Amino acid sequence: MVSASHPIDRVVSQVDAATEEIVGFTRDLVRIPTINPPGDQYEACASFLGDDLSRRGYDVEYIVAEGRPEHTPQHPRVNVIGARRGSSGGPVIHLNGHFDVVPPGSGWTVDPFGAVVRDGRIFGRGVCDMKAGIAAAIFAAEAIARAGVALPGVIEISGTVDEESGGFAGVAHLARVGRISNARTDFVIIPEPLDVDRVCIGHRGVYWSELTTIGRIAHGSMPFLGVSAIDAMSEVLGAVRRELQPRLAKRVTAMPVVPDGARHATININGIDGGQPVDGIQTPCVADRCRVVLDRRFLIEESFESVREELADLVARSIASSKGAEYVMRDLMIVDPVRTPDDSPLIRALEDAIQRVLGRDARRVASPGTYDHKHVARIAGVPHCVAYGPGELELAHQPDESCRIDDIVNATKVMALAVLDLMGVGR
Ligand SMILES: [Zn+2]
Repeated sequence: MVSASHPIDRVVSQVDAATEEIVGFTRDLVRIPTINPPGDQYEACASFLGDDLSRRGYDVEYIVAEGRPEHTPQHPRVNVIGARRGSSGGPVIHLNGHFDVVPPGSGWTVDPFGAVVRDGRIFGRGVCDMKAGIAAAIFAAEAIARAGVALPGVIEISGTVDEESGGFAGVAHLARVGRISNARTDFVIIPEPLDVDRVCIGHRGVYWSELTTIGRIAHGSMPFLGVSAIDAMSEVLGAVRRELQPRLAKRVTAMPVVPDGARHATININGIDGGQPVDGIQTPCVADRCRVVLDRRFLIEESFESVREELADLVARSIASSKGAEYVMRDLMIVDPVRTPDDSPLIRALEDAIQRVLGRDARRVASPGTYDHKHVARIAGVPHCVAYGPGELELAHQPDESCRIDDIVNATKVMALAVLDLMGVGR
């Protein structure tokens, strides 16, 4: 038992006392429709966060993604960082959340940007992915300050753009300009919605490839005089389904990727177009072009070179059976898998805090998809990075996205306790 004046108890009661404020702050964030694409309201959201952080006593900087093609006058890419410096000697802990959200899509029964509260949940696009996480980060640090606990290190809180579209003008930019770096940053927590009792230690790799098959146009009433690029593509897609998918399903990673179906390597056909646009007026023609985008997720046990070679080989063999067809393959995106070292003090601090706050063991997971962790690990070179935050992963990007208020409060406590632990306070 710890005494009532113990820093941990004081911080936990400050979080409880701030519940209404945490809910209000999360709702305010949800009401700013930072939809990506195209990247709406980024400046407004960065200012909202920056103003809030400076009122709380942070030194605030805005970091604009100058030079990135997606940074335009219509849709400026503005990131914000606040730093609260304690006495020297302690670590620098960086809490990073992306504030862009995916478009609402259809199927909503509430206003996606209304931030309705019902049944102990806040509803809205981006509430779970990941505006509740940003609120939890800010109030974790705030509870420590309100409890009068002096920290020997630095807490940084950032709100960044474009995670949903790769994070190149967001966390990657902060890493590239050295604002998150191995030299200055000890620990990074990204409060993505991985569930309140799970610590996410990394993700699988991503290989997006564009394949174009090229045939020869002819009159559609005499298809035998042409070469159909769609027929050639269907050979490839058939081979992906019959040959590659079963092979990938047998390749299982040692990383604790969730859900179970994502424990193995996967491939998805992300998009396809070929021949005449189906919406337009049709004239009879053999399709001379067909194009797909393939989304291959690979395991830390697979090398990228072998992944690319395997796909290239399958494509070459499939197209060889379509006489006269040719093809072009182009890499669109390559992200290597990342994994935080098992013995990272960051993992231990969060797992201990989860045990203390929730009274149950933490679960260690890896993400099926990629997130900003890759930029922290690969560009900034910071090994101690995890995702931990409120919200149920399955609700992200769904209609009627919501986040449990209890989870937000508990995640706030967990983050606050982990920060204390890493700073060596209240052990
Ligand atoms: Zn997210």
